[in-house]
Amino acid sequence: MELSELDPATTIVVATGNPHKVTEIEAILAPVMKGMKFVALGELGDFPDPEETGTTFAENALIKAQAALDETGFEMAVADDSGLCVDALDGAPGIYSARWAGEHGNDDANNTKLEQAMAEVPDAQRGAHFHSSVVFVERDEDGEEVLYGDGDCPGKIGYERRGDEGFGYDPLFLPDETPGKTMAELSLEEKNKISHRFHALADLARKLA
Ligand code: IMP
Repeated sequence: MELSELDPATTIVVATGNPHKVTEIEAILAPVMKGMKFVALGELGDFPDPEETGTTFAENALIKAQAALDETGFEMAVADDSGLCVDALDGAPGIYSARWAGEHGNDDANNTKLEQAMAEVPDAQRGAHFHSSVVFVERDEDGEEVLYGDGDCPGKIGYERRGDEGFGYDPLFLPDETPGKTMAELSLEEKNKISHRFHALADLARKLA
């Protein structure tokens, strides 16, 4: 898609390279942002990922949204930053979820590290939650309007991976709301009803409505 084909006044750049997230973000925000077109950053060009130097999910989401506006010259962007926080690991991997085992986005290595770190942890101490912070940024000549949404999905860490759906730590995460099933054993539709991103987007949608 060419940048010149899009009207900046009605285009929202979705600052993620993950197609699962683009679909989820559009499904929840489109009803409260009528007339807006959601376009994934990756469809507009091959832009480098900004360094996630923030110390919170919200700060990193803002960095991604602002970088998307800098790179494309558009006026509105949505971004999210999310991760897994494990009680027995003092909240780790947290904001480092994507790169916990070293290489950014290596889900297999991240899950192996989590299985090993949790191998000896008893049932009662396996609590965890996914957290998501989403941000909407609108820029004009006077500055920026920034709105945040936050959401959690509480659950437990399993002993071994199960399921092929989803991504990231899904095969090791057992949401409280779906007893006996890992997040990777849920359909995308089921996951989207309970996910941290769903709750964060719903929070943001309430503020945008
Ligand atoms: P982000 O894409 O920079 O927000 O990094 C998020 C990282 O957290 C991903 O690479 C995954 O490891 C993890 N993560 C975030 N959301 C989910 C989810 O819905 N399921 C599984 N893992 C997730």
